[in-house]
Amino acid sequence: MVKNKMLFSFLIVINNILFAQTKTDSAMSLNPKERSIVAISAYAAQGNVPRLQNALNDGLQAGISISEVKETLVQLYAYAGFPRSLNALNNLMSVLQERKKKGFNDLPGKEPSPYPAGKTMLQTGTENQTKLTGIKIGGGVYEFAPAIDLFLKEHLFGCIFGRNNLDWKTREIITISALAAMEGVEPQLRSHYGVGIHNGLTTDQLSEIVTIIETNINKQRGNVARQVLQSVIDQKPYSAETPPDEEIFPTGQKIDTDNFIGTAWLNQLIQSDSSNKIQVGNVTFEPGARTKWHYHPGGQILLALDGTGYYQEKGSPKRLLRKGDVVKCPANVPHWHGASPDQPFIQIAITNAQNGATVWLEKVTDEEYNK
Ligand code: MN
Repeated sequence: MVKNKMLFSFLIVINNILFAQTKTDSAMSLNPKERSIVAISAYAAQGNVPRLQNALNDGLQAGISISEVKETLVQLYAYAGFPRSLNALNNLMSVLQERKKKGFNDLPGKEPSPYPAGKTMLQTGTENQTKLTGIKIGGGVYEFAPAIDLFLKEHLFGCIFGRNNLDWKTREIITISALAAMEGVEPQLRSHYGVGIHNGLTTDQLSEIVTIIETNINKQRGNVARQVLQSVIDQKPYSAETPPDEEIFPTGQKIDTDNFIGTAWLNQLIQSDSSNKIQVGNVTFEPGARTKWHYHPGGQILLALDGTGYYQEKGSPKRLLRKGDVVKCPANVPHWHGASPDQPFIQIAITNAQNGATVWLEKVTDEEYNK
């Protein structure tokens, strides 16, 4: 008897641990169905059909019902337009046919209940909009163009959000994922992060959506979506930063010789060998950085990739170099190259190593550099 009682207590403890674990997990991360919905919504909004088909298969495999996935793609027309929504629905039709042929029994799911009786769609939609966003929407653009206010209320929040075969939290996952995958809708993405939080999504879950966008859609869209999310977390307005030009080659290692003045970085792309007697390196000069005077016994070619730089041969005036400029340094002619005082400079240096290594000479004085 005592033994049984102990076993019972033990089971309760185990059960509590397991339950607590499940509870924490469900609060922390998106479930497999929700993760699939992120990918489906993002690809449908982007119109990436091959990837969408895979995502639809994954989602159905994860247990999303046909009704839920259909509803996801129907809702998307309000955010990505009818053409994307219809293309996605056509693809769903063929994915479902394929799966049926292969013997998969996808769950039909439930159909939405009828809309509430005795209310106009505008009343239903206005109530839904206020409940969903937690605020009364009006003024501004809605006053300027009352038709868009009417269509949003009646149609989006009435007709679409009034269908209960998807809950509102899931509907926000759909909207956020679609907006995160699209360009130029950051203000809407920002406000939907807020609406998502209001409907039970945690910032960890929002961050998970962004990670899925980063890994599946692309890094740049992911970066923007993350910056917008950070602005919500910090409660600061989001202002789009000018995205930095993507560097073509990684910066490489800091150059640690006294042949350079200031800070410069080298990524050696090609080492000279028996078939190619040339060295190719990507050099990044920080503002003010430059080489010493030097010459190459086999000559050198410089391709300017970015920023503003200088090139000067002994006895000639210095040349200003910008992205796209090409310099041919003749063999054995002393010269130097580097960045301008206030901008970095990135160059590809193609050095002919046939007749021997670079010969380093004296420093470029500030007077020479500034002349
Ligand atoms: Mn050189």
